[in-house]
Amino acid sequence: MGMNLQTFRAPTMAECLAEVKRVMGPDAVILHTRTLTLKRFLGLRRREIVEITAGRGLNGGPRGPRARIQGGNQRPMEAGGRNEPQARSGNNGNLATLPPPRESMPPPRPMPDPAYSPDSTALRDLIERMDGMAKNITDLHTIVRSKDAPEVPEELFDEYMHLVDAHVEKGVAEEIVKTLHRTLRPDHLQQRQFVREKIAEQLERLLPVSGPITRTKTSGPHVVALIGPTGVGKTTTIAKLAAKLKLDENRRIGLVTIDTYRIAAVDQLKKYADIIGSPLRVVHTPEELREAVLHMRDCDFVLIDTAGRSPKDTLKLNELRTFLEAASPEEVHLVLSATADRDCVNLAIEKFSNVRVDKLIFTKLDEARHVGAVLGIVRNVRKPLSYVTTGQGVPADIEVARGKRIAQLILGSDL
Ligand code: GDP
Repeated sequence: MGMNLQTFRAPTMAECLAEVKRVMGPDAVILHTRTLTLKRFLGLRRREIVEITAGRGLNGGPRGPRARIQGGNQRPMEAGGRNEPQARSGNNGNLATLPPPRESMPPPRPMPDPAYSPDSTALRDLIERMDGMAKNITDLHTIVRSKDAPEVPEELFDEYMHLVDAHVEKGVAEEIVKTLHRTLRPDHLQQRQFVREKIAEQLERLLPVSGPITRTKTSGPHVVALIGPTGVGKTTTIAKLAAKLKLDENRRIGLVTIDTYRIAAVDQLKKYADIIGSPLRVVHTPEELREAVLHMRDCDFVLIDTAGRSPKDTLKLNELRTFLEAASPEEVHLVLSATADRDCVNLAIEKFSNVRVDKLIFTKLDEARHVGAVLGIVRNVRKPLSYVTTGQGVPADIEVARGKRIAQLILGSDL
């Protein structure tokens, strides 16, 4: 007897049947249906799914097909009353027919329908295989549960998911909701807004920030260098910082760029330097850089832009290190884009940390979909966040990093 057997799963019976019909056609035979209650679906949430095992190519006859899918209206036969497919489809609104929620998957049982007693070898074989499949599912979820399941208080589960969806690391999200659960009164835990504020406070507490670039010297310029991958926004950020320091604090700013490759970037910085009335020097060697800084000794701040060097290119990173040693800046900020994928960011951190990193700047928060990742990166690098940038506008789109603000952005506030 040629037989094609497949198992389908979906959140509701209706969806599951539709899928059976789509894949196996209207002549599919429903052999078994059941509802599984997964205590923690992918280690996260209690969830119910419907499972249908359907076959095609079975012979009909007196003990033949138990249900065929025709037009989607026909109700499949139920396996020993253990399933209520209509109630589960959510279409009849009769919630009273729903069984009480189960906490774990019921043990697999053979089909107990007396009209369908398994007297052929093929059917016995089939039942054994289905039992085997059910056991595999049980095993799988036991593993998932023990390995990944977060120990998250039920009433804060949605808040935990909200943090994870914003790309806050799972361990950090778990820690935050646990702390709230420990410290908040039960009636406060019910107040969504209050809980959100407390979560924001926790996020803020976890995010080290440095405050703005501040001159501490009494003589000579306070030298700041920006390094980072190409295209993250170093030049734009230098222009923003220069304009801010000049306009807000009336400081004398010197600009230096060691961008020896991209003439366009020099032009861009030259344009900004002209607008704010600051000198710009383009240097090609570490010695020229040292001279340029000396030359700008009357400035309050010297800001150094660096060429976009690929983090993969260690030779050029070595070159960059030599430049920085020559300039001996007060601070080196690693500029990272909040839109870059985590692997790129990690690679940049690994490479540029070998040069020198004192603080972090995150650009393009306006384009970032998940600001939560910033928190994880800052914590991993163990360097404080100095500034974030929020658009292409010079000088408007830059802010001194503040924990509270970043926390709100992580939780979904608009810029
Ligand atoms: P560099 O190669 O690191 O010097 O990067 P650039 O300063 O040349 O910037 C690369 C691109 O990113 C330019 O188009 C900038 O306008 C853009 N950019 C810089 N900062 C931001 C920001 O905060 N938000 C957005 N959306 N774009 C930015």
